[in-house]
This record gives sequence, structure tokens and C-alpha cells, in this order.
Amino acid sequence: MPRTTRSGPAITVAGLTKTYRTRDREVRALDGIDLEVEAGTVMGLLGPNGAGKSTTVKILTTLARADSGTATVAGHDVAREAAAVRRAIGYVSQKPGFDPIGTGKENLVLAGRVYGMPARGARARADELLERFGLTEAGRRLARTWSGGMQRKLDVAMSLMHRPQVLFLDEPTTGLDPQARADMWAEIERLAADGLTVLLTTHYLEEADHLAQQLVIVDQGRVVVSGTPDGLKRSLSGDAISVSLAERDDLPRAYGALAGLDGVTELARDLDTLRARVDDGALALPRVMGTLDAAGVRLAAVTVSRPSLDDVYLRYAGRTFAAEVAA
Ligand code: ADP
Repeated sequence: MPRTTRSGPAITVAGLTKTYRTRDREVRALDGIDLEVEAGTVMGLLGPNGAGKSTTVKILTTLARADSGTATVAGHDVAREAAAVRRAIGYVSQKPGFDPIGTGKENLVLAGRVYGMPARGARARADELLERFGLTEAGRRLARTWSGGMQRKLDVAMSLMHRPQVLFLDEPTTGLDPQARADMWAEIERLAADGLTVLLTTHYLEEADHLAQQLVIVDQGRVVVSGTPDGLKRSLSGDAISVSLAERDDLPRAYGALAGLDGVTELARDLDTLRARVDDGALALPRVMGTLDAAGVRLAAVTVSRPSLDDVYLRYAGRTFAAEVAA
């Protein structure tokens, strides 16, 4: 069945609120979340522990109900059309969802049957997915004998049996070694290239940077900032251009030339290197190099670097990510 090619948002969230009430306290988990995920893109949902990420995902996957606000997934309202939403989504939770004493193929077929697929169709789809994920051989063995990376792929494959339009991935690479993580990234990229919409929650900023076209950082039940990874990094303090000179003696001349250049907001020097802060490194670089060339300065190397997502996270979530993960 061809996937819908309709463009527009695959997920819309407007003013979602949710308060958990326990016997002795109330926790406002969501305090008016708004977001939108364009069809066929990967959105990264980030935020410190307790920010409201899981609650948002639970509401979008119909596992919890909001107190107020609206949300649609694949064009269906999560509260009024929960069954249609469930048919349109795949959900891979942090906890393994496969049965370790079933083979890979048995797990896939069972997942398909749970979604109401006929046995034959489920078997054919299972074979297709095993092949797609490079698990055809392993598919005959019990899942408990598989590596951690293969088991995660099995969880993802199980969520894809019924050909969902939107996939929710909760921390998909937590606990995987670097090679398995890289493999999983490649799989997620491939799924997005095929038109699947992915909402990814992750603790790895590098992962969000690599995979997501859009990021949303939530804190205390609200969206504190959203944008593209590059846009968010740029919003901080511009880029750094570092220029190493071939001749140290050129330093004063080079400094003088760059000091007057439009768009250079800071300039620092050490022995044979100048560091300039600019609003947009890619735009400023040709001007910087042209100016130095006109001043007769010979260059050994030039690099442009951007603030990292760690810097963005620190600014908007108020803590470093390292402190967060250690907490
Ligand atoms: P995150 O996924 O970003 O870590 P959660 O959505 O799990 O955040 O939690 C948001 C807030 O709601 C936290 O303060 C958390 O303690 C609280 N919370 C989450 N689930 C429950 C629950 N079932 N009962 C009571 N409080 C909850």
C-alpha cells in the first residue's frame, strides 16, 4: 500500500496541559505544549528529566489523555479518534518489546497479528523487514541470542509491521555501543528518507543533531525553544572563524585588517592565530579570506566552528547535558 504523499504536518499539538494528581501532591507535567512536525521529517524532543517529554509522547500515542488542548497525529485527533491514531503510528519504547524466547520472525509475525494482519501477510511483511534490517539469517534464532543492536532493530521492525506513517522512538540508542548506534542512526535516516515521520526523544545531543531536522526543547511542561539544530546553534552567539597564519610577522597586519571588517563582533589573537566571532561563518568566510588576501597575508589554515547543541541546551534548559545525564 503506498504511503500517503500528503504534505503538511503529521503531528500537531496545541496548548496541551496535563496535571498528575497523587494523594499528597499535584504535578503539572504539561503546561501548554505547542508543536508541529512536518510529514516525512525527524523531530527531536529534548529536555531535562521531568520536563514532560514522556507525557507528551504518551498523549500522542493515546496511552494518556490530556486535561486540555488538542493534538492530531496523521490527521486524526488523539482523543476522539484514538483507534485511527493507533493504526497510523508505531511506538518503540525504551524498554524492549520483543519476546526473548521467540525467534526474530515469530516476534515480527506476532506483532503483525496484534495489529490485525492476516497470518500470510504478516509472514511476508516479517521477511521483508528482516531483509531490510539485515536480519534474515538471525531471524531464525531466538531473539535472546541477538546482540543489543540487533534487538533494538527488532523492536523498530516490530513497530513497522503495519506500515505506520508516524514512528515514535523513545531513546532508541540508549545502551548501544558506538557501532550499533551508528547502525541505528543509518536505519532511522533510511526510514525518514522513505517518507516516515519520526518523533525522537533522546538524551544524546549528537544524535538529535545528526538525525533531526527540527528540535524542540521542553522544560517544566513548556516548549522553551524550537528550531533547526543549526538555527538554534546560530541563535546563540554566532560562529567562530579561526585563522592560522603562515608567517607570524603578519599578525599585526592581519589583526588590523580584520578588526575593521563588518560583521566581526570579537577578535582575539595569540601567537600565529586570529579568532574572529561572526554572525554567520559561512557568509563571513569569503570576506575574511578576501580581506586577508588583499592585505597580503598568507594563510596556513582556516576553520569555522559553531556553538554546539550542548551550548544550546545549557542556555535553554538551564543545565549542562552532562549534569543532566549524571543526575
Ligand atoms: P520526562 O519524560 O521529560 O522526563 P515526564 O513526562 O515523565 O518527563 O514527567 C513530567 C512530570 O510529571 C514530572 O514531574 C514527573 O514526575 C511527573 N509525572 C509523570 N508521570 C507521572 C505519574 N504517572 N504520576 C505522577 N506524576 C507523574
